[in-house]
Parts: sequence; structure tokens; C-alpha cells
Amino acid sequence: MSSGIRPIALHYLFDVNCYLVETGDGHVLIDTGLSRRRPVLEAELEGAGCGRGSLSLIVLTHAHTDHAGNCAYLREKFGSRIAMHRGDLGKVERGEMFWKPKGEGSLGTTLAKLAASLIGMGKFDAFEPDVLLEDGQDLSDYGLDARALHFPGHSPGSAGILTSAGDLFCGDLLTNTRKPERNSLVDDAEEMDASIEKLRTLGIRTVYPGHGAPFPIELLMGEPGAAR
Ligand SMILES: [Zn+2]
Ligand SMILES: [Zn+2]
Repeated sequence: MSSGIRPIALHYLFDVNCYLVETGDGHVLIDTGLSRRRPVLEAELEGAGCGRGSLSLIVLTHAHTDHAGNCAYLREKFGSRIAMHRGDLGKVERGEMFWKPKGEGSLGTTLAKLAASLIGMGKFDAFEPDVLLEDGQDLSDYGLDARALHFPGHSPGSAGILTSAGDLFCGDLLTNTRKPERNSLVDDAEEMDASIEKLRTLGIRTVYPGHGAPFPIELLMGEPGAAR
């Protein structure tokens, strides 16, 4: 693992990761976990020396409740800005991970919504992001020697952050809960295929997934077609 990256695993039914990344003059937080584990996250941020003004940016990899649960709260507390891809805008504006544009909903969506609310994964605090990330956008203005990447498939606005050292924060594109693999929870299969294919060309070394431990990309991409 590269220095300057602090994984914060929050447990509720399953583990979800946030990553605190050191910049020259503070920190950037990638994903924020579930609101019901807020005290654990706050203690970790405090332990790392985060204070008001020193957590300049929160990057949201995608608008699912287990990642977006503390965005609005932390922005208020730390005076941070929130960055994300516009593809998940409708979800964060409503605080609803299953929100879809009119006409795209389905019985599956309704059932998933119901199941999520039953396990306490329903709504999250809605917000308007401060920064809309573009595919390939340079993040050096925010103190990160990295760029943002758009990886639709798990959700329309799923995004990743790739540092110049080859560390990829991939959100829920890839997962390592059982083994390194592509996420089986897919919103759009074609887009997912294209996003996985795109990984091959990016010079990635280590993957930092939304769920599970970091792993070298070779474990997934070592064999041609291994990620299919
Ligand atoms: Zn997700
Ligand atoms: Zn997740």
C-alpha cells in the first residue's frame, strides 16, 4: 500500500471502506460510509488530525447509501467540498440510491428499495455536490497527484480516482469481499463491461475497493479476459 493512504473500514452487516489520503496541506476523503457508523468515522478522522479546513475535499465514488451516508454531515463539519460524477446527481439530490430518471424504474428497483430500507440502507442525507468530476480530470488543484475516471456500470455515475503512483480507488466497480473480482451488482451490463475493459489501459498497480482489502491489479487482470 502506498504511504499516505489510510483505509477506514466501517462495519454494519458488512464492511465498507473509506480512504483518507494525505495531500500537501491536509487530507482528501474518498467515500464516507453509512451514517449509522458516523462516530467511528469521526474518531478515525480526528485520530488522523483532520480538522475544519484541513479536509479540503470529499470524493464520492457513487451515490449508494453505504458510501454517501456522511457526505452532507462531513461537509458541514469540516467545510469541505464534495466532488462526484454527474451521472449519480439525481440520487444525491434526493438522498435515494435507487432513484432513476422517469421511466427507467422497474419492479426490481421497487423490491430493492424495500429490501434496502428493511436493513437500514434506505435513504441518506441529500446534498448538492460542489464539484462535478469529468472523466480524466486532473485533481492537482485539490492537492492530489491523481485524476478522476468515469466507470459507469455499477451505477451511472460511478467514478474512480487513479493516482500517478498507480493506486486506483475504484468504488464498487471491483470488490474484494471474497476475492478480487468485478462487482456482481450491476446497473448496466454493457457499461460495466466497457469500464472493466478500460482498466487494462490505465497503468494501475494497486486497487483500493469499496469493500474488502486492497489488492494488486494482476490478481484480477493477470490473464487476458480474467476479469470477464
Ligand atoms: Zn455500490
Ligand atoms: Zn458499496
